[in-house]
Amino acid sequence: MTIGQPFTVIEVPVVDVLGGIGPYTAVVNDPPWSAVAGRVRPPVRVVTAGNMEQAHLDRVVDAEDRTTEVVVGLGGGTALDTAKYLAWRTGKRLVQIPTITSVDAGFTDAVGIRVDGKVRYVGNVVPETVALDLPLIRSAPARLNQAGIGDILSCHTGLFDWRLAVDAGDGVPWREDLAALGETLLVQLEQAVPDICAVSDDGVRFMADAYRRIGAACAEAGHSRFEEGSEHFWAYNHEHRTGAHHVHGELIGLAVVAMSMVQDNRPDWAFGIVAGAGARCNPADLGIDRDDFAQALLTLRNYARAEDLDYSIVDAVDVDQDMVDRAWDLIARLPRVEQ
Ligand SMILES: [Zn+2]
Repeated sequence: MTIGQPFTVIEVPVVDVLGGIGPYTAVVNDPPWSAVAGRVRPPVRVVTAGNMEQAHLDRVVDAEDRTTEVVVGLGGGTALDTAKYLAWRTGKRLVQIPTITSVDAGFTDAVGIRVDGKVRYVGNVVPETVALDLPLIRSAPARLNQAGIGDILSCHTGLFDWRLAVDAGDGVPWREDLAALGETLLVQLEQAVPDICAVSDDGVRFMADAYRRIGAACAEAGHSRFEEGSEHFWAYNHEHRTGAHHVHGELIGLAVVAMSMVQDNRPDWAFGIVAGAGARCNPADLGIDRDDFAQALLTLRNYARAEDLDYSIVDAVDVDQDMVDRAWDLIARLPRVEQ
C-alpha cells in the first residue's frame, strides 16, 4: 500500500552519485565522511552537522558558497536535516545519502530544526534523489541500523492511541488507509526481523522502503498519528526531563515495549520484535534507571497536555505505580547489547 508520493530512492554507490551532480556543498556527519572523502569527487564546501539550533543553521546558510548548485546530505539525522534546511533556504537542488537506517530524515519532506531546544517544522523540500549505497550503510555500527525498527514499530502503540483518541472524539478523524498502512508495516517488520538483525541488504532495503512509505503518508495526511503516539510522547518527556540524548530509534524501541504494557496491547509481541532485531533498547544500555523511567511515565499526562500533544493512553487511564512496575520489569528484561 502506498499513500502520497514516495521519494525516488535509487541503489547506487556514493562515488557515482557525487561524480555527476555539479559543484556541491556536502553536509556531513563524521563518521562516515572521513572514510568517504578520499574516494569521491571533492565538494566545494563541507559543513559538519550536529547543532540543529536555528541560530547556528542560519550562520551555515549565511556562509554558503555561491558557486555550488547542489546540497548533499550524507550521514544520519542531523546531516540530512541540516542539508534540507540549507537547500530550502537557498533554493538549491537536494541530494540525500543516508548512511544509516535509524532515522527517517532522508525520506520526509518536512524541514525540522530546533528553536530553544524544541523541534519546529519550518518548511518542505523534496530531494531530487535519495541514494542508497548499501555497502556504505552496512559498514556502520550494526546497532545504528538495527535502531531503525523504532520508528516502524511505533505504529503498534501509535495506532492503538489513535483508535483511543477517535473513540474519545478527540483529534484527527480515523483513516482506514493510514491504519492499514501501519498494520501492513508491522506485519512486514515482523517478517524482516532476521534480515534487520543481520543488517543484510534486504534488511536495509526494507527499512528504507518502510520509511519512504511512512514519509509519503505523513506528508499527504498532514499528521503522523498512525506511527506516533504515547511512545514518542514518553520519549520527549524523558529527554525534556533529563536533557539526555539517545539514538532516537533505540529510545523509541524501549518506549514501544513499555507503552504497549501500559496499553495492555500485546507487549510480549513488541518485546519479541525488539529482541529479535538485536536492537539496543535495554534501559541499562541507554543509561536510563528505574526512577528516570517512572518519573517520565507518571508525569506524562501533564507533560502531554502542557505540550498540546495528541490524546493517548495516558489520558484514557490513570497511570499508577503497578503499571510503572510492570512496564519497567518488562523493559529491564530486554536483551543487553554490547556497544
Ligand atoms: Zn520517531
